Amino acid sequence: MSSSPRRIVYPGTFDPITNGHLDVVERALQLFDEVVLAIAADSTKKPLFDLEQRKSLAEAALANFKGKVRVTTFRGLLIDYVHSEKSNAILRGLRAVSDFEFEFQMALMNRKLSDTIETIFLMPRDTYTYLSSTIIKEIARLGGDVSAFVPPAVEAALKKKFHEVKP
Ligand code: ADP
Repeated sequence: MSSSPRRIVYPGTFDPITNGHLDVVERALQLFDEVVLAIAADSTKKPLFDLEQRKSLAEAALANFKGKVRVTTFRGLLIDYVHSEKSNAILRGLRAVSDFEFEFQMALMNRKLSDTIETIFLMPRDTYTYLSSTIIKEIARLGGDVSAFVPPAVEAALKKKFHEVKP
């Protein structure tokens, strides 16, 4: 008897994807057969990269995980999307106490909306605990070196965004 693959949905803005996100994906693959990295189209944040750019940067960063990680986009309620992927698990990364309150509230609200879906939190390695897409964008905007924190395609895209000389 074959059981269906265990699939977890990793939602976020991923504006842009960082090595912290990749670390969480790798950890999740120790526990699940497939990670669906689901980029939110409806975000209260005003993203620097549009949805298609965020998707192609994530795809480039995750090219080594072909068959185990799928990059998608979604609109509307996360729990509806998780059901449509035939999954029952949401993945979130926890960096510090500062993430906790918001994540706790969201996990409990999602449970109220659908009590068959569980949220699983994974912690990145310590060097990534202070890393966020927001801080990366700020460093890149000011001309700092972000190569230790983001995949090469993201580094190039940030350079292009902030420092390309327009003709
Ligand atoms: P959102 O806007 O939904 O918070 P993000 O793209 O900022 O989306 O983050 C998606 C998820 O990844 C969140 O659970 C966030 O806590 C987690 N995350 C972001 N950066 C890191 C990091 N450096 N290490 C671990 N988890 C992270």
